[in-house]
Amino acid sequence: MRKIALEEHFTTPELAGSYVARPTQSDTLFADVERRLADFDELRLEMMDRTGIELMVLSVTTPGVQGVRDTKEAIRLARGANDFLAREVQKRPDRYAGFAHLALHDAEAAAAELERAVRELGFRGALINGQTNGHYLDEDRYLPFWERVEELNVPVYLHPGAMADQPAMFAHRPEIGGPIWAWTAETAAHALRLVFGGTLTRFPAVKIILGHMGETLPFLLWRLDSRREFDLGEKLAPDALPSAIIRRNIAVTTSGVCDPGALIATLQALGDDNVMFSVDYPYEDPQLACDFIESAPISEDVRAKVCHGNAERLLRL
Ligand code: ZN
Repeated sequence: MRKIALEEHFTTPELAGSYVARPTQSDTLFADVERRLADFDELRLEMMDRTGIELMVLSVTTPGVQGVRDTKEAIRLARGANDFLAREVQKRPDRYAGFAHLALHDAEAAAAELERAVRELGFRGALINGQTNGHYLDEDRYLPFWERVEELNVPVYLHPGAMADQPAMFAHRPEIGGPIWAWTAETAAHALRLVFGGTLTRFPAVKIILGHMGETLPFLLWRLDSRREFDLGEKLAPDALPSAIIRRNIAVTTSGVCDPGALIATLQALGDDNVMFSVDYPYEDPQLACDFIESAPISEDVRAKVCHGNAERLLRL
């Protein structure tokens, strides 16, 4: 079945080396990742042809400018990355599309760059690598950004990035301080800030995309509803169900989770229209991801939605 993949990364010559090194990954493996991040030709296209991935929506690998402290420099680098990606997409518009890279150091500037990326470069939304200088997207400073997102009617992919600080729970345990657990915990918490902080109530049409089978949130809906009476906060109406907000505003991808049981539970929790195929290239094995989605025990109608239909609708591809 033809497939569209949404969490697929690249880097630019200017940003190369700025992403988080993985202490547990061997040098040889990491060198291969670096080579694949920089490639838009032989390696990537051969893999896409071999596995039946028709289209990749490309994004800057983590952390990108989310790892840059200086605002002016981050704005300049993000704009450069978007122009760089636009040139690659233009060479092969049948195989590549783009997510904007944004410097959330300045909400107004990020909103303007998103508008430029969507209207002038033809990008399909944005992908954001977690917090920026310790700020999360539910803060009031980001209201102008969300207004523009809603107006442009494009999704925002909330992707893991570096933690703002290293909590004591990860001390002396680097194994769980990265992609195995900490990235999931951070990204799920970021998404819950948007739910409980009222952002998704204020902007009901905004669509957030979470990778990694929803960063565990699909498995927690019942508990989020059941505990809300203790910790509702001031931003949610007493009858607002967190699960209803999540089902309305959040879609997820299968990136990096090739588990049929998790897929079925996620489809049941969020509905057939809110789950999309992805790989997380070049960090994950595309063949494994494609074999998984082709053989998962779901109906052909649902498989078509997950593999391409939902992405076509949500990203207007
Ligand atoms: Zn990723």
